[in-house]
Amino acid sequence: MDSMQLYREVMALQDKAGVPLDTRWRSLLLYLREVKDYTHLSDIQKMDIQTMMASIYSSRDYSEENLRRVLNDYRDCVVGQYKKKMDPLVSEAVGLIREFQKILSERRGDINSLEETALGIIEKSLDSPEQMDRLREAFSRIKDFFVHDLRTLENMAVRDALTGLSNRGAFDDFMASAVEDWKNSGRPLGLTMFDVDNFKKFNDTHGHRIGDQVLALVAKQVRMAADDVPPGNRLLTARYGGEEMALAISGKGVSLLPKISENIRRNIRLFNFLIRDTDGNVLESGVHITVSAGIAAMSGAWTGMYLENLIDCADKALYYAKHHGRDKTVMFRHNEKQSFVVVTPTD
Ligand code: GH3
Ligand code: MG
Ligand code: MG
Repeated sequence: MDSMQLYREVMALQDKAGVPLDTRWRSLLLYLREVKDYTHLSDIQKMDIQTMMASIYSSRDYSEENLRRVLNDYRDCVVGQYKKKMDPLVSEAVGLIREFQKILSERRGDINSLEETALGIIEKSLDSPEQMDRLREAFSRIKDFFVHDLRTLENMAVRDALTGLSNRGAFDDFMASAVEDWKNSGRPLGLTMFDVDNFKKFNDTHGHRIGDQVLALVAKQVRMAADDVPPGNRLLTARYGGEEMALAISGKGVSLLPKISENIRRNIRLFNFLIRDTDGNVLESGVHITVSAGIAAMSGAWTGMYLENLIDCADKALYYAKHHGRDKTVMFRHNEKQSFVVVTPTD
């Protein structure tokens, strides 16, 4: 059977199964049909995809929501196994760093008491003040080294190495305490999630090394815009994961999130990205990248799962931006119905 004939047969089958003439559903089902035979997938993954297809056909639910659910299920099915392996490794690494940090802080105390004891003993047997000063200096240098190492480790435990933003662990800590502030004193809390548009394609076209430079650039824009947040607010810029970054504000400055986030989106869009070879020579200029942004703020209507709700709502706004052409900042609005507002540039 030639491929055209096969295609027609599959289309006829889809007609029969009530698949609407929506190209997204049609192509998704075609894609799943192909992908389930890929050799790099495990038997379990192939079976999961088969089950996914069967449940689409049997439920006949071709809604927008189900489309999103299926795409998420597919992503979980394909990358889930790596994520499961990575998560414990990452937390183990963070745990080790914290442990080491603790040991270093204790060492600092040890050095202080060693200094006191040693100087006391030596003072008794030495009567030259110059020699004592030299010894004091030596101890002080050792202490400086320890303090420096301690700071480096503290930094490593909370920072993402590629972008220099706070890492996921620091994001979780910040959000947990900001949620407490919101619960206890009503201090506003808002969050913007940024996600690079079509980044997979960018990586496929230009390679991961250049992709990494894009992430650093996006992070820089997010960090710079945070300077617009007035003092008195607590804020955090973090790499939430992969190509997703977050900007969180705790304080009255939450009302500025749409403006600041939209500025970030616009600055990234306008940035003339240069692609260089490993010697630094420009290979290509005028490359533009875009990001989509989703904003949400805490709602008094929630009764629990506060942080989860906040992240979900920012995610929903982000999906809305993705489904409405990308390169947009969208705000989640709390009312009886979920609604989304596309933030327009102000200047
Ligand atoms: P969308 O506009 O819908 O967000 O499409 P997308 O292609 O950006 O989204 P998708 O989630 O399919 O792909 C995300 C890509 O981000 C896939 C992954 O290779 C890439 N990525 C994640 N982390 C890194 C990283 O640290 N460096 C590089 N270069 N790429 C990364
Ligand atoms: Mg993403
Ligand atoms: Mg993306």
